[in-house]
Amino acid sequence: MKTAARFPLALAACSAAALSAGAALYGDPPDERHAWAVHDMNRPRPAVATPGAALGQPPSDAVILLDGKSLDAWESDKDGSPCAWKLVDGAMEVVKGKGQIRTKQSFGDCQLHIEWRTPDVVEGSSQGRGNSGVFLMGTYELQVLDCFENDTYPDGQAGSIYAENPPLVNVCRKPGEWQAYDVVFHQPRWEGDTMVRPGSITVFQNGVLVQDHWLFEGTSTHRKRTLPRKHEAKLPLKLQDHGNPTRFRNAWIREIPDYEGDFTTGAYRKPAAIVAQRKATAAKVRGEAEKILAGGDKLGGMQKLFEAATYEADAAVQARIVSMAGAYVDEIRALDAAKTEARKGEITGVLGDLDYLVKFGIVPAAEAPKGALQKLAAERGLLKKK
Ligand code: MG
Repeated sequence: MKTAARFPLALAACSAAALSAGAALYGDPPDERHAWAVHDMNRPRPAVATPGAALGQPPSDAVILLDGKSLDAWESDKDGSPCAWKLVDGAMEVVKGKGQIRTKQSFGDCQLHIEWRTPDVVEGSSQGRGNSGVFLMGTYELQVLDCFENDTYPDGQAGSIYAENPPLVNVCRKPGEWQAYDVVFHQPRWEGDTMVRPGSITVFQNGVLVQDHWLFEGTSTHRKRTLPRKHEAKLPLKLQDHGNPTRFRNAWIREIPDYEGDFTTGAYRKPAAIVAQRKATAAKVRGEAEKILAGGDKLGGMQKLFEAATYEADAAVQARIVSMAGAYVDEIRALDAAKTEARKGEITGVLGDLDYLVKFGIVPAAEAPKGALQKLAAERGLLKKK
């Protein structure tokens, strides 16, 4: 009986130079920085989401902030009263004097899509023209401004991180035309009172990169430089009332996981979490091996145990696979030439596995029956090139 190996069997042919089709082990094994082998089929699959019908439309896992029909996701930032901005032609328009608004829901690291347009009737100049702002976590301002032929200080123009960093390029459309921000945002990470990783933001304006993983220096303010400050892990998104009737539409947000951050290791990984994950996977794969063995498939069970051994060094498992591999060599030795030839793919596969286990130090060379199987395979002509 054939059992599922750790790598997709369809890919086996690609690895012919290194391993044979019957091998269970494939890409480089888990190590102290990686819970999974390269191309590991035990690795959990990403969740499935349906993308929007067109670019810019929300995927199925997004939280909708503006759908053109209601302002229900928003409230006054001043007192939590209902959002007093207005719906106009399927968009939300700033109502001067009503103050900034915030989402009812709080968010941390996120992907954000939001579309905006400055008034088609141009009034004012510099910072007084179509000014608003998208405040990630209510704290970090991505400026919204009519910057089409409107000069202002660069660290306050559209696409800037206000008071910190100008956009890489000015890709503003004309007043009255819809524009889009696509944002990837990560908040700073702290250990106690020490910031171990700064917050960052990447922004595309109208599909053009305007902020390339900018590392926040502080929190947004006006005229002053600031330092990072600790805040809650989740906070509402806010939009600014700067007195101009700027509009917003088609806004959606997706929370994104931290990239397993432990900035201090330099590996962006948590060693303890990796050890725990490897241990859990080893236990799961050992369980699968026992089931296969109980079903009478010695070869499949042995190869599953090989696999289990790559996740966690376990002396008992190691001794067991050495003994099982020894018995396997004896079994092959007892076969006649025709039967050996018929099992060529399987034998060279096991040889590939033993090679792997020795190469990566999972089983010491002295203990692996690899040499015996290799000698036998050579004697039986299994290693000859076609
Ligand atoms: Mg602003």
